[in-house]
Amino acid sequence: MSGKQPRTTIGDTFQETSNLEQQVIFMYVHRIEFSFQNGQTPEKAIEFAECLLGTLLRNGQICESIRGPLYMEENHCVAIVLAPEQESLDPKFHGKYVTSQIQEGVALGIGFTSTAMAKDRGSAETCSCHSSSGYVLFTTYLSLEPPVRCLDCFLPVPLYKFPAMPSGEYGDVVRWQSDYQSCDSLQMHCTVLERATIRQMSDPRSSLSMMGRENCRMLEDLSGKPFYYYLYRDHGRSVKSEKARRCPSCGQPWCLETPLHSLFDYKCDTCRLLSNFAWNLT
Ligand SMILES: [Zn+2]
Ligand SMILES: [Zn+2]
Repeated sequence: MSGKQPRTTIGDTFQETSNLEQQVIFMYVHRIEFSFQNGQTPEKAIEFAECLLGTLLRNGQICESIRGPLYMEENHCVAIVLAPEQESLDPKFHGKYVTSQIQEGVALGIGFTSTAMAKDRGSAETCSCHSSSGYVLFTTYLSLEPPVRCLDCFLPVPLYKFPAMPSGEYGDVVRWQSDYQSCDSLQMHCTVLERATIRQMSDPRSSLSMMGRENCRMLEDLSGKPFYYYLYRDHGRSVKSEKARRCPSCGQPWCLETPLHSLFDYKCDTCRLLSNFAWNLT
C-alpha cells in the first residue's frame, strides 16, 4: 500500500480561520553561532552546541530537532534552526536551564550569539490574539510548529508564552509531540503498526492520550485557560451512528452544530476533549 492521502489541508484551515487584519508573523529561520577561544577545541564547541540546542528545544525556543544542520566556519560552529518567532531566542525567553547553560559556556570559552535570518515560508504564522479564550494540544506528522494551538484563531502558540512547567521547561510537551508525530506517520503510511497507532491517537485512555491530557491539565492550571486534547477519529460505521457518537470519556452528547475550525465536529467541555467526524465518512 502506498499510504493515505493527507486528511486535512492545515494550510487551508489557517487561511480560513486567521484574522487577516491581525499582524502576520511567520515562523523564523535563525542562525546560531558558537564561537570558541581560550584554547577550546571545535569538538568541545560542537558537544556544547548539541547540548544547548536540546535545551532550547525543550524550552520551546526552537522547533526542529537537534539533527538540523550544524557546521564549522573559521573559529565557530553554526546551527541553522527554525523558531516560532523572530524574537524566540531573545534572552527574556531563556528560562533557568538555557540561562545557566549559556553561563557555563562563557566559563568554558564558548560564546553564543543568534541572528534572525528569514521568515520560513513553509510554516504557518503564530497566534497574535491579544487574549485567547482557550487552547488545544494539536500536531500532525507534517507539522514543524509548536504543538499548542489557540482555540480562537487555530494558529500555533510558542510554548515559552506559557508559565514554565514544574520541571522548569516544556520537555513533557515536546516529548508528547514527538511520540504523537511518530504514531501519525506510521498510521499514514499504512504498513507498520497502523491499527495500534490509530488506537493510541483515538482512545482517551491510551498511553499517548494520557500523557497528552496530563500536559493539558498542567498547562490549564498554569495559564488559567481551558486546554483541550484532540482525539483522532479514523473510522465510523455509518453517518447516522457517527452523528449520535458521545464523548468517549463521560458518555454525554458532544456533537457541535457548527464545526470548529473546519476540523473539530465534537467538543466536550467537561472532559476538555475535541474530535473530528470519522474520515472514512466525509
Ligand atoms: Zn490566536
Ligand atoms: Zn466528556
